[in-house]
Amino acid sequence: MVGEASTTRYCRKCGFDLRAHEGGVCPECGRAFSLVDPKSFRRRPLRRHRWVKRVALLFLFLVLSLGGVWGWARHGRLAEEEAIGRLTTKFPRLQCKTASILPPWVADHMPPVLGNEFKRAREFTLVFSPRHGSTLGSSDVEEIRRLVHLRTLDLRWDAAHKDVALDLTPLTELETLTMLSVSPDSNTYLPASIVSLQAWGARLPIEALMPLRNLQELTCTQFPVADKDLDKLPQLAHLMELDVGDPLSDFQVEAVSKLPSLKILHCGTPIGFDPDRIKKRLPGVKVEFYPNGE
Ligand SMILES: [Zn+2]
Repeated sequence: MVGEASTTRYCRKCGFDLRAHEGGVCPECGRAFSLVDPKSFRRRPLRRHRWVKRVALLFLFLVLSLGGVWGWARHGRLAEEEAIGRLTTKFPRLQCKTASILPPWVADHMPPVLGNEFKRAREFTLVFSPRHGSTLGSSDVEEIRRLVHLRTLDLRWDAAHKDVALDLTPLTELETLTMLSVSPDSNTYLPASIVSLQAWGARLPIEALMPLRNLQELTCTQFPVADKDLDKLPQLAHLMELDVGDPLSDFQVEAVSKLPSLKILHCGTPIGFDPDRIKKRLPGVKVEFYPNGE
């Protein structure tokens, strides 16, 4: 056994070939070894190239991963730019602001050529005019649904128009949503008597509204949820500000009072009962009334 073990031996520390030495210290680095203790030397030569190979493989893996992430980011950016491009062709006045989807401490230390690939649409504003024949069709809504990193979506139009399913479920990062009928040349709401109750945007289907769990501000001409779905409204747990052009019914006030994070409510002046009654039912909420019909 000992004789066999003694045929090949190498220094544990530096890999020096110790076959010509019977014990003591390695002439190369001075590490002690003993023939009776097989653990004090190696049987196989130290293979440095194995480590070189591992480091090279790791490096290759990192380069490929980064390349993959970059490719994925670039693909996403180009897909978004195409969608925005198609919308801009139809609605030249649309405004879209982009920002990085990376945490600031990463984005700030990235070369622009790389960082630009991680920029996505964050704020989208579109004012269109059914009065002058420009409406948002279902294919346009489909393009908006591609902007999955949007935090702010602001849609305003100046007349009632054909109903279009507005399913925003992919926009789960949305924090501020505005859907308003506005009077031409100003930002005030159209009175409910002018806006058809069937107009698109009057109410979002509850299935479309509920996935927007990060929603903090919601602005719309009419109360966003149909009466049969009022009990689901408090699921918008982060909603801090609700802005409705129309007056609220008793049932709607009841639903609003259950919103856990609500701080501010704007709505039309209630018809037929005392505005202070609404304020009393919403303690801790700042309530402001819009004059009706203006
Ligand atoms: Zn040695």
